[in-house]
Amino acid sequence: MKGRALLFTAFGLLAATAAAAQPRVVAHRGHWQAEGAAQNSLASFAAAAELGLYGSEMDVWLTADDGLVVAHDRVYGDTQIDMERDKERIIRSIVLPNGENIPSLDAYLRTVREYPQTRLVLELKSLTDLRREDRAAAKIVRMIRRYGLEERTDYIAFSINACLAFRKEAPDSRVFYLEGDLAPHRVKALGLTGIDYSKEVLRAHPEWVVEAHGEGLEVNVWTVNDEADMRYFVQLGVDYITTDRPEVLLRLLGGR
Ligand code: MG
Repeated sequence: MKGRALLFTAFGLLAATAAAAQPRVVAHRGHWQAEGAAQNSLASFAAAAELGLYGSEMDVWLTADDGLVVAHDRVYGDTQIDMERDKERIIRSIVLPNGENIPSLDAYLRTVREYPQTRLVLELKSLTDLRREDRAAAKIVRMIRRYGLEERTDYIAFSINACLAFRKEAPDSRVFYLEGDLAPHRVKALGLTGIDYSKEVLRAHPEWVVEAHGEGLEVNVWTVNDEADMRYFVQLGVDYITTDRPEVLLRLLGGR
């Protein structure tokens, strides 16, 4: 029995190694190129989930009246409406190309809750005031808990202050740093889960992937849309690839 148990362990390790070699796919701003979707729309999360993706990324702002909305750019198109300086009601009046209004975080999380197989990768945009970032992180974590999503939400931010705020508010959650200016050992020292760096940064520092893994950190790379880049980062052994073209990456990975 002992030998058999060892054999199973060996197979388990082999399987784990094989699985680790295959990066997981994260849709950038949702699977927004799907029919009927738009960047950061409710439909884009649903489409990412329906494609069976590991995760779907989105961006959150804290509005002037402390609302939380899901959008990427500070100013949407030619509206001159500013995500941080205008009120939630005004921001939510903006209509996306698929006909949805810019969603509140509340509405977005209701959609996320309907698709339990897909992880939420939640980015807090850098705010002008660090105390506002702290307040945003606290409000976001409370809302994530209210929807029972704490075990399948990852937090990401360019702001170290925001990363540390998420770490403090949600000590058991996974928090990744985006800016790309810190070597993995420094991200480890901050108590974060991993690096989530641009393809340009990781092409300049391919050694950071091995270094991160050596530190027990995980590695995500964004935004990888070109097939040659996809192959490069699969070879490099990153854990996650964030892309605007999840269908292309899935095909390249052999359907998984
Ligand atoms: Mg983002």
